[in-house]
Amino acid sequence: MKVFINPGHMPGIDSGAVNRVLHLQECDIALSLGNLLEGKLKNAGCIVRLLQSDNLCGEAPPAPNICSAANSWAADVFVSLHCNSYNTVARGIETLCYVWDSHAGILAQAIQKQLVDTLQKLDQTIPDRGIKIRPDLAVLRCTAMPAVLVETAFIDNADDALLLVSQQETIAAAIARGITDYWCQLC
Ligand SMILES: [Zn+2]
Repeated sequence: MKVFINPGHMPGIDSGAVNRVLHLQECDIALSLGNLLEGKLKNAGCIVRLLQSDNLCGEAPPAPNICSAANSWAADVFVSLHCNSYNTVARGIETLCYVWDSHAGILAQAIQKQLVDTLQKLDQTIPDRGIKIRPDLAVLRCTAMPAVLVETAFIDNADDALLLVSQQETIAAAIARGITDYWCQLC
């Protein structure tokens, strides 16, 4: 299985969401999670490519184009990694895909289940926000393979941010299990 990992946003150009109290940037956490996920998927026998860029689908050349890189590489699975942000109170885990009734929907459910099961063992109060259908997102719309965007937790919420900082290995392992669970369902 060829897995394309896209850590969201781009350090130095687009921080994504931030937690000003804890001095956290979404782009840094996404890259850290992506590097851990890459290692775990390689250990599981996957071929992995990781690309972080602010050029999602051709709008910001000459930065590498994420969607065309994934398409020309012919990835089997595309996973974009992000952190959510809202009002410092909202919490939880959600996974986004283009359309529900699809391989992407199955992949999203597999990843969401592993993340929820794993993080709720560490913190029973973190909510399962479910699968969200987001056909408007470029990385879900312009990718030719099953693609999901994982909103791991809310970076601007103190309890979620603690998980994002202290449980990166656990979060990456859960996402890796979700991806391999999806692949096994197809076999
Ligand atoms: Zn983001």
